[in-house]
Amino acid sequence: MRQHFLPFAKPAVGDEEIAEIADSIHSGWITTGPKVERFTKEFAAYVDGRFATALSSATAGLHLALLALKVGPGDEVITTPMTFAATVNVIELVGATPIFADIDPGTLQIRIDEIEKKITPRTKAVIPVHYAGQPVDLHPLLELAGTHRLAVLEDAAHSVGTEYKGKKIGSFPTVSVFSFHPNKNMTTGEGGMVVSHDEKLIEAVSLLKFHGMDKNAWKRFDKAGSPRYDILAPGYKFNMMDIQAAMGLHQLRKLDGFIEERRRRVMRYQEAFRTVAGLQLPKEVPYPHRHAWHLYTPLVDIDRLKIDRDAFMFELKQKNIGSGLHYSAVHEFSYYAKKYGYQPNDFPNAHFVSERILSLPLFPTMTDQDQNDTVEAVIEICRRFAR
Ligand SMILES: *Cc1c(COP(=O)(O)O)cnc(C)c1O
Repeated sequence: MRQHFLPFAKPAVGDEEIAEIADSIHSGWITTGPKVERFTKEFAAYVDGRFATALSSATAGLHLALLALKVGPGDEVITTPMTFAATVNVIELVGATPIFADIDPGTLQIRIDEIEKKITPRTKAVIPVHYAGQPVDLHPLLELAGTHRLAVLEDAAHSVGTEYKGKKIGSFPTVSVFSFHPNKNMTTGEGGMVVSHDEKLIEAVSLLKFHGMDKNAWKRFDKAGSPRYDILAPGYKFNMMDIQAAMGLHQLRKLDGFIEERRRRVMRYQEAFRTVAGLQLPKEVPYPHRHAWHLYTPLVDIDRLKIDRDAFMFELKQKNIGSGLHYSAVHEFSYYAKKYGYQPNDFPNAHFVSERILSLPLFPTMTDQDQNDTVEAVIEICRRFAR
């Protein structure tokens, strides 16, 4: 058995990031400043996005994007139950009502026909999640949204570098929100970015992310800036710091290499598990795309095993292999189940997946040995607990 615990994810931060952070600290300018401005521009260029603003997290970005889209009490927002709770929490936080549309049990993406069934006169927006780093079927979704005049707010937390039909997520006529949490494909420690074709929307988010202060408030400490400022709305404190952007500048340069490394690892997993009874392997979407492989999420085939998914994860841990749970279906959490009276099977595909899914170790710096240990552990558990 391996000696050291293998986490399911680990950020790949190198000397370049450390030197850039040190440079910010030595410069005396630690918080929002020139590096955030540079990172924002470079990130927008990478995703072929028109306008962008950097924040303290993707959760903050989703929250402020909903406010900027004027989503509030009385409005309904359609999203997937197979996501991180933040996607849904922000809908509650702005006073709107989350409406779930079930997923495809193979690709784990929200189904466009299920979204269509949930549209009412109160529907104001749709939040698709590009689950695990492959894109939802954006063309039919945008067409549907156009017909019903719905805003599309892409939860792109998994999909920095994802492409749909040859175009990057971030380049479509929507609002896209990316995450730079340490487990994501690139990191700024914590951080997020809102990207849109809509300049007014990005201005509204920029205003709300820093106290509702007009214009480049950070420049007021600069020689060229004016010390006066105005407050145009009661805003939040959701800005990104320069020491975060310092990491981001270098992570962005390494991102394509990270994604390639993730893809290579996934292909090795898929090959190693091809004939293993007890696992159902992730399926790719049928339309042209570039998968960013944020997560590798097979389903534990609990009908063919004597143990459930949680026990499977426990057995992996006994072998010093970490795994993740992405995700427990959001409608099954106490708050949502109680408030809306949801039963697990109200979204049967999400429930099915929620009981079976696990994320195996996948990160750019994992070694062949790490991966071989994982494969060996998974296969041994599947054999030992086979029905
Ligand atoms: C990570 C994640 C978020 C939140 O991102 P933060 O930057 O941690 O706020 C939102 N949605 C999904 C699907 C995520 O995976």
